[in-house]
Amino acid sequence: MCGIVAYIGKREAYPILIKGLSRLEYRGYDSAGVAMIDKKGDLNVYKRKGKVSELISFVKDKDTTGNVGIGHTRWATHGEPNDVNSHPHYSQSKNLVMIHNGIIENYATIKEGLTKRGHTFLSQTDTEVLIHLIEDIQQHEGIKMGHAVQAALKQVIGAYALVVLDKNDPDTIVAAKKGSPMVIGIGSDDFFIASDASPIIEYTKNVVYLDDEQVAIIRRGQELKIRNLKDKEITPYVQKLTVELESIEKGGYDHFMLKEIYEQPRSVLDSMRGRLQADLGEVRMGGIVDHEKKFEKAKRILFIACGTSWHAALVAEYLFEEFARVPVEVEYASEFRYRNPVIYEDDIVIAISQSGETADTLAAVELAKSRGATVLGICNVVGSSIARATHGGSYTHAGPEIGVASTKAFTAQVTVLTLMALHMGKVRGTLTESRFRQLLYEMEAIPSKIEEVLKLNDKLREIAYTYKDSRNALYLGRGVSFPVALEGALKLKEISYIHAEGYPAAEMKHGPIALIDEEMPVFVIATKGANYEKVVSNIQEVKARKGKVTAVVTSGDKEVKAMADYVIEIPETDEFLVPLIAVIPLQLLSYHVAVMRGCNVDQPRNLAKSVTVE
Ligand code: GLU
Repeated sequence: MCGIVAYIGKREAYPILIKGLSRLEYRGYDSAGVAMIDKKGDLNVYKRKGKVSELISFVKDKDTTGNVGIGHTRWATHGEPNDVNSHPHYSQSKNLVMIHNGIIENYATIKEGLTKRGHTFLSQTDTEVLIHLIEDIQQHEGIKMGHAVQAALKQVIGAYALVVLDKNDPDTIVAAKKGSPMVIGIGSDDFFIASDASPIIEYTKNVVYLDDEQVAIIRRGQELKIRNLKDKEITPYVQKLTVELESIEKGGYDHFMLKEIYEQPRSVLDSMRGRLQADLGEVRMGGIVDHEKKFEKAKRILFIACGTSWHAALVAEYLFEEFARVPVEVEYASEFRYRNPVIYEDDIVIAISQSGETADTLAAVELAKSRGATVLGICNVVGSSIARATHGGSYTHAGPEIGVASTKAFTAQVTVLTLMALHMGKVRGTLTESRFRQLLYEMEAIPSKIEEVLKLNDKLREIAYTYKDSRNALYLGRGVSFPVALEGALKLKEISYIHAEGYPAAEMKHGPIALIDEEMPVFVIATKGANYEKVVSNIQEVKARKGKVTAVVTSGDKEVKAMADYVIEIPETDEFLVPLIAVIPLQLLSYHVAVMRGCNVDQPRNLAKSVTVE
């Protein structure tokens, strides 16, 4: 979830690195850094917390010369965003520097071994451990950098895209990848390396996409060499870039929102990684272990959030009550903070915010803390204000979300909340072992089920076309799907400016049913579960008044299909996990409607991504 750029050739590296980093800044934005080797052979490393612009001002009067260099924008996973944790990271001797994108999952074990051998570490990152390991292997085995990288990566569990620079060998760059993207641009007498093609395209259209577990040895003025971890030589496959610069920045998607919708199989998986162990029947969450006793004893959980995060909290209400048998209240942060809420010391308060900067939620956190409650945070941005202000919590590992309408942050939040609810159910003994395990397996299967739903995109575009001129829309759901209806309505209204409302399906007859006529699109989540028959009756009520029904149903459903105008079939899962899958088609529908109406999907009018004002 970060941006990598590197250059080796005859030009000045620094301007290429900085321009590339600015283009990649959407991938990570908490710190930035560069390293260049100058003509005298000195290695100059500059890194700074904050945006690329802050790095630029920091290096203004410094020596940035050199024809070889590496650059990075960070999206912290290990260690808070600060100057020291920023990349590039040094090896023990400081002769090597490395930039890295991803997570080295077994870094703690490797670090322990290296510490025993006398290594000392400056940062809290997993990245620094890996560059120390590479140097350790290089020195002990007396081998070249490429082989040392290969050997080190054989010991690594996790994901990486990395580039290594050696002060004593300014004519070589070594790059490798697994799970994170990396592309190498081939110029007439130089090479460009980056996380995506956007920093490369203005210099060359000839590129090689590195595959997983491949290591590239890139020497100035020589042919590109690629080997796999088993030391087998691979012939580079050179492709021509056909895309234009602008679309590349969005990874080939027309909008960040669409890209982020498509990233969800990955972001949900990343939010479970290292936490969910279905085979072992375990949920492990680092940020809440210290609060386990509180989880066991809690009389109540209060969720505080705004917007889409508030919808995630509503989903959590159903999950925590079902799995952990604990009473739950869901609060709008803005209301909570200005009431005189009753808060007990044995309450657990959970604040949810993608950016971790939402002003109302932050103020509510402070209020809950001052009343003695245990306050946990669920944020996407590492080191953000709410993450720092809370007693503990868990990050969603969704990666940077740029589209203002939240998509992957929502599913990541629901993922983390589901794991928390399951964990709490286990701690409190309110879930049987077999139900617990069954839910873990169901959770594990969610990313591939999201993948299935994404294949419905063409059909969803067609459905969107029929509704693009609507002025109103109604979204209905029951139980855990009620918050999904709210979220569906919010997505539509915020990006397409169509008035939309979400309602518990049974509440429709207490008001909104008066709005239904042949002009009114009604979106219903009607998947299999305890409420299914009731929802079917609600659909009949809509049809009886000539409403247009689009229903999200469980794959193979016949009953709803027979009465709805359109059905969207999604894979079956446990009924409490349905929100993670059912929300995807609603996101895509809103997206297409907004595009067809010519709206600015990524920056809807009047809205901002991180709401730091109350
Ligand atoms: N895990 C590394 C860190 O926390 C790299 C994060 C990234 O991909 O930006 O520094």
